Amino acid sequence: MKKIAILGSTGSIGTQTLEVVEQNKDMEVTALAAGSNIRLLEQQIRQFRPRLAAVWSEEKAKELRTAVADLDVQVEAGMDGLIAAATEASARIVVTAVVGMIGIRPTIAAIRAGKDIALANKETLVTAGHLIIPLVKEYGVRLLPVDSEHSAIFQCLNGEHGNRISKILLTASGGPFRGRTREQMKDIRVEDALKHPNWSMGQKITIDSSTMVNKGLEVMEAKWLFGVEMDQVQVVVQPQSVIHSMVEFEDGAVMAQLGTPDMKLPIQYALCYPERRLMGGERLDFRKLKEIRFEEPDFENFPGLSLAYEAGKTGGSLPTVFNAANERAVSMFLNRKIGYLTIVDIIESAMARHSVISAPSVDQILEAERETYDYIESRW
Ligand code: NDP
Ligand code: MG
Repeated sequence: MKKIAILGSTGSIGTQTLEVVEQNKDMEVTALAAGSNIRLLEQQIRQFRPRLAAVWSEEKAKELRTAVADLDVQVEAGMDGLIAAATEASARIVVTAVVGMIGIRPTIAAIRAGKDIALANKETLVTAGHLIIPLVKEYGVRLLPVDSEHSAIFQCLNGEHGNRISKILLTASGGPFRGRTREQMKDIRVEDALKHPNWSMGQKITIDSSTMVNKGLEVMEAKWLFGVEMDQVQVVVQPQSVIHSMVEFEDGAVMAQLGTPDMKLPIQYALCYPERRLMGGERLDFRKLKEIRFEEPDFENFPGLSLAYEAGKTGGSLPTVFNAANERAVSMFLNRKIGYLTIVDIIESAMARHSVISAPSVDQILEAERETYDYIESRW
């Protein structure tokens, strides 16, 4: 049995992970953690029978305890609950599918407990990659990417033991506003930004995809996962999302992974690695596809991507400020407190005032996050 803990089980990745579990008879869920959606979490507990469940607020945990009193499940709350789920004794692999920097501590705890990590939560690697990567090596666990581009790169590296990567070609759909100028984007509403052309995802990452901040986070994620420099990661716009990413090797050969856009593939691949398993769903039909188009990314109208390169190259605490400012700004935009273009203005302004700390500890990362939030609150 593959015993799995899922952090963020009620979200887009979390629910798709549970669909994968349903389709594989040798998978079992031992722990589930969510933020506040206890209705869905209760259904998941009844169906998958984990030993442990965690929700963020103590109040909701109490409610959930009453709701599942007839079952043999321990319900925990807060960061302790999230860490308990991440370290549940019988789990072999932890799917980190919470959204945001909240994922740092539980991911570290899971690694220290010897669990393999199926990593969806890119914000953790972006802000704490310098701590996570050495820890993964120290504890001898596997860090298996779930993000579709990184799973594609990971698949392209199969059998390439030690062969040097010259470049990672990270593909991007360009989002719903590809081709527009900043002037044409100033009146974008929440509803417009929540429509992604190819992928169906959680709200925060959907907004991030529209601003290209998601691609910026992914460049930093790739840097840590594959041990390359920021300049070796080149973003290529490929609007149909058919190529999920590519790797160019020293001899000039380029390997690519292609497929229909469905997150269940990278999720199942991470859970079953190195095995490939039967999976239903649509297949690419190249006769219908006819062509695959490429464009250069538009750094001028999507400055979030340039800021990400700046943050990733500088390193230290700057990626944390980039990420924290974005997390807060996106949430303000979703709550209709700021306009669309202000998201990236906030990131730029927060980065400009920050004094970078090199190799920050977890506490320093969380302090930089807090300071960024305070600054944003004082100005917007
Ligand atoms: P969603 O917003 O759909 O889901 C987020 C999950 O995190 C929910 O289960 C939510 O619980 C939970 N959560 C939020 N806050 C807390 C908290 N304080 N404690 C515990 N759980 C919490 O996000 P996605 O699934 O889209 O994304 C998850 C991560 O995966 C992100 O880092 C994203 O960048 C990454 N990712 C997502 C992809 C996608 O296709 N969706 C693709 C590649 C990467 P609740 O709903 O109950 O509040
Ligand atoms: Mg992605």
